[in-house]
Amino acid sequence: LVRLRARLSRSQNALGKGLLTLLSREHLDEDTWEEIEDTLLTADVGVQPTQELVERLRERVRVLGTRTPDELRVLLREELLQLLNPEFDRSVRTDAKEGTPGVVMVVGVNGTGKTTTTGKLARVLVADGKTVVLGAADTFRAAAADQLQTWGERVGAHTVRGPEAGDPASVAFDSVKEGIVTGADVVLIDTAGRLHTKTGLMDELGKVKRVVEKQAPLDEVLLVLDATTGQNGLVQARVFAEVVNITGIVLTKLDGTAKGGIVVAVQRELGVPVKLIGLGEGADDLAPFEPGAFVDALIG
Ligand code: GDP
Repeated sequence: LVRLRARLSRSQNALGKGLLTLLSREHLDEDTWEEIEDTLLTADVGVQPTQELVERLRERVRVLGTRTPDELRVLLREELLQLLNPEFDRSVRTDAKEGTPGVVMVVGVNGTGKTTTTGKLARVLVADGKTVVLGAADTFRAAAADQLQTWGERVGAHTVRGPEAGDPASVAFDSVKEGIVTGADVVLIDTAGRLHTKTGLMDELGKVKRVVEKQAPLDEVLLVLDATTGQNGLVQARVFAEVVNITGIVLTKLDGTAKGGIVVAVQRELGVPVKLIGLGEGADDLAPFEPGAFVDALIG
């Protein structure tokens, strides 16, 4: 929790502090509630969730009558937590089946942190005693395969790669095949996220998915979104969700933004949990998303 709090940007912590400061005012008048709304909107929580939170909070404050700062903090914590869908299952499934490894496809627009996330996730799995194969199916960004391979060497996972500008589906196929042949526990496939056209993306990811599923069940399709892109991330999420069945979201670069409220917005948009968060560029900077800890880090 201490680490989480330290890594969430100062400005993001300011969201929580800002809310608490507003709530500790002598009179919770109309202006104050509006300021609370503005604070949440600025953090990209989204219009509807913001209105819901403020309405519920107002109602509870009204019903409770008394309102010490401590009581308000408890209420705010509960309401923020509620917005984050605490009941979601956030485990990243990597279950190896009889004879086949667990397979995870990592998708998202280039630059969001896909390759880095794939590397960090490999590290977590290897540390957990699993053998991991990395599939460098992002064959369009010239450096992506090198970058993934470097991660692989760092964490102890073999990287399967194809020729530059080669067929991503063929790399995906080969990596799952290698996973099967070597008896690996998990295959992580890094894909290319070119949003040039929706049909192009659909064809590409669809093909990758099909060749994977010919050999092994796909456990997860993780969508990587850059938290600093705010509402733009939502647009990306919508496009990817139309193209492929997303099972979990990874929100990266939460260390560099005050827009942490995007967690709420994106979960609503897709009806899919944020499972992991990126809190920096380093190998250890991937954390499971825990709503309780997140809220605690925000409002301290
Ligand atoms: P890709 O094109 O989606 O594969 O993106 P990369 O994995 O190459 O990441 C793009 C940049 O974002 C790199 O400089 C990464 O080090 C950086 N990055 C990735 N995740 C995080 C994160 O959680 N926090 C920060 N601050 N930077 C990140």
